[in-house]
Amino acid sequence: MSKQWLMHFYEGNQSLAGLLGGKGANLAEMTRAGLAVPPGFTLTTEACRAYYIESRLPDGLLAEVREAMAELEQSKGQRFGDAASPLLVSVRSGSVTSMPGMMDTILNLGLNDDTVEGLAAATKNPRFAYDCYRRLIQMFGSVVFGIEGAWFEKKLHALKQAAGTESDQDIQAQDWQELIGTYKALILKRAGVPFPQDVYEQLRLAVEAVFRSWNNQRAQIYRRLNGIPDEQGTAVNIQAMVFGNLNEESGTGVVFTRNPSTGERVLFGEYLTNAQGEDVVAGVRTPQPIAKLAGDMPAVYDKLVGMAELLERHYRDMQDIEFTVENGTLYMLQTRNGKRTAQAAMRIGVELVQAGILTKEEALLRVEPSHLDQLLHPSLDESEAPAALATGLPASPGAACGQAVFTADEADAWARAGKAVILVRTETTPEDIHGVLAARGVLTSRGGMTSHAAVVARGMGKPCVCGCELLAIDSEEKQASIGGTAIREGDWLTIDGATGRVMIGEVPLKEADMSAELQLMLEWADDVRQMKVYANADNPEDAAKARSFGAEGVGLCRTEHMFLSPQRLPIVQEMILADSDAARGAALEKLLPMQQEDFDAIFRAMAGLPVTVRLLDPPLHEFLPNLEELVARHAQLTAARSGASGPDAELQKLEFLIRKVRGLHEVNPMLGQRGCRLGILFPEIYSMQIEAIFGAALACLNDGVDVSPEIMIPLVGHANELRIMRGLVDEVADSMLGDLQAQVNYRVGTMIEVPRAALTAPQIVQHADFFSFGTNDLTQMTFGYSRDDAEGKFLTHYVDSKLLPDNPFQVLDRDGVGQLIELAVTRARAAKPKLKTGVCGEHGGDPKSIRFCRETGLDYVSCSPYRVPLARIAAAQAEI
Ligand code: ADP
Ligand code: MG
Ligand code: MG
Repeated sequence: MSKQWLMHFYEGNQSLAGLLGGKGANLAEMTRAGLAVPPGFTLTTEACRAYYIESRLPDGLLAEVREAMAELEQSKGQRFGDAASPLLVSVRSGSVTSMPGMMDTILNLGLNDDTVEGLAAATKNPRFAYDCYRRLIQMFGSVVFGIEGAWFEKKLHALKQAAGTESDQDIQAQDWQELIGTYKALILKRAGVPFPQDVYEQLRLAVEAVFRSWNNQRAQIYRRLNGIPDEQGTAVNIQAMVFGNLNEESGTGVVFTRNPSTGERVLFGEYLTNAQGEDVVAGVRTPQPIAKLAGDMPAVYDKLVGMAELLERHYRDMQDIEFTVENGTLYMLQTRNGKRTAQAAMRIGVELVQAGILTKEEALLRVEPSHLDQLLHPSLDESEAPAALATGLPASPGAACGQAVFTADEADAWARAGKAVILVRTETTPEDIHGVLAARGVLTSRGGMTSHAAVVARGMGKPCVCGCELLAIDSEEKQASIGGTAIREGDWLTIDGATGRVMIGEVPLKEADMSAELQLMLEWADDVRQMKVYANADNPEDAAKARSFGAEGVGLCRTEHMFLSPQRLPIVQEMILADSDAARGAALEKLLPMQQEDFDAIFRAMAGLPVTVRLLDPPLHEFLPNLEELVARHAQLTAARSGASGPDAELQKLEFLIRKVRGLHEVNPMLGQRGCRLGILFPEIYSMQIEAIFGAALACLNDGVDVSPEIMIPLVGHANELRIMRGLVDEVADSMLGDLQAQVNYRVGTMIEVPRAALTAPQIVQHADFFSFGTNDLTQMTFGYSRDDAEGKFLTHYVDSKLLPDNPFQVLDRDGVGQLIELAVTRARAAKPKLKTGVCGEHGGDPKSIRFCRETGLDYVSCSPYRVPLARIAAAQAEI
């Protein structure tokens, strides 16, 4: 079958986005629905792929384009390249997945030195005609010839200065004419060829350039960030122009059918009269809020409101609409599902369900799990917030503190060095995307709510304040000022994207509350999901937080964190360094009540829900001072004492410590004496921990608080290890619990994190009540990658170069690690059908991995407290 390279808008529809790109498919859909869309046609993504394969436009394409243009000429009653009545078109990129602002578009194509005169005569508006022409030359220069926009901007700026104005509106026809000459000279100089006068030559070059723009750097970065496949390619839309810059009865704008920041159901957006194309979003002039259109052009406004409603019902989602008004007539130029903040997404989802437009399941499926993270992120602590120095537009909610930087490259570099930064720009462009990504928040002095910075920041869930007009930026000098206050590179700033406030200094942030919409959506998720969601919590605060987010238990409580506090560390060291059983016993005696206190508080916070406590896991030397530091101190002391004789107590102590630390040194500690290996050689440590758990359980029961302790033995690789450790737990239980055994109802299980444990699950399960897959270590040991050494090094390269599909420490590797999990679960359940199973690694908070856990039949996932809501949603999505 021959490939389809071209389709008229009236032939296509929404479902053909793969072929027509999102923009083309929606233009077709709107055309079918009878909306006022200027006519045109789409060159398909297949044509784009063919272009890449052959490195030129495929044979026959241009002939098809000529035919389609002839049809367009017919319907418009104009001719392309005809000086008497010239047809002008736009050449618009349109990828399959929306990549706003990432790719190129050229307007007013078909103008040359002759047709511009024709347009001037036909419209009796030379100023307008020349305005179109200078725009064309500039866009053509940058898109086709790759000449930096700044070159053109400089010339425009000089022209305005000479004319003594700052506004495009004041420029007269002759001035534009002069600029056209300057621009043409600029193209000749920079590109080495003149601006093409042949209109079909213009068209061909423009199409090729749009195809090429698929592979420009910013588009590539955007695709990588958003997981868009490189093979997709872009479509090209060729469409008859309508003119928002014709006169004061004309204009152009962008509206969202709801507020993309909060989700509120109001028409939201901006427009400019007598303007074209990107004027609104580029921050060239500060646009008017859309509500003003109701006063300026009431009929147009009413029509727009109607369209917005219609499109939203048609697409069953909030729409982001681009429109142009030519001489009082409204035209639709684009619609797509609008990008929104996490907060807005939640509200819109809930309201669409309530309006009967979506089902609960559909709304749940639309929740982007990564969005949930953002919803729970901190906002300003108002009680500590100083007066705002200035207020800009509240473009993307959330508060952020960071050090001011003035370029995207610096934002990136500083963030890499571990600094929190706020990117401060006059406005951002697609070239700044890496800086936006790296920054905690973005602050701009120009641009509206639909400016590039605002759109991109909302998409990323970054706080953003834009259009802060009091802010004067000198990016060359790397400084700015607000009123009389200077802001230098590195100065701390705080921005609040919910209100637009800008403050100097680092203002404390506080925890977010869950909105009513989020709560509702989570309840819907709970109705649907089968898998339980636990949290990893090492202390009572985290446990309480996790419960408030809906955790149904603690899946991992890491006891070593309890050993690291300044009060306890010396006692832990005493225990490790003890040279007799008696001395070790004495140190453990001191630790016991402390440890018991921890468990007690966690049990109470979880009020009867399961609490999985992992017994001590890391190698002992992690609790001792660093050997190099000890040796250095020793050298210092020895030098200070030179000449003195007789023993020195401190020196002797140090020498003892050095011997001990050397004795515990391991070449490969991750595979050394840790986990249950430690428990087997030093049962008294585990004994103490078990006693603390049961002691706390008894105390809780005594106060009428239910408990369900689950004791987890780490790093088991052989059934005998678990047999011995389980024996120890049962023995302590027997001696401590007596009659209360049944009420405490403890379980003993193991972490499956060594591949051998997964492989020998049938033997190991004989001694286990539950399996918790420790997927961090299991991934590490299955791949043979040291996690600490892989990330940021070869692993980054592997993922960037697509050697691996994902970082296996973030997204569970189904083929390898997943296979081990599946095998362990199936075989263990064959022996013990009721075996409880779960995951407690980082993967417990990753949506793709959560889906895998469900498919494998695990009972629960456990993740960090902040990820609990995400996991609840992802677990529901896995059912739908
Ligand atoms: P992007 O994908 O960057 O938004 P578009 O192809 O949508 O690029 O073009 C940007 C803007 O150019 C549109 O929002 C619209 O204002 C203007 N534009 C594009 N095509 C036309 C046209 N045929 N007539 C008038 N304006 C147009
Ligand atoms: Mg755009
Ligand atoms: Mg657009």
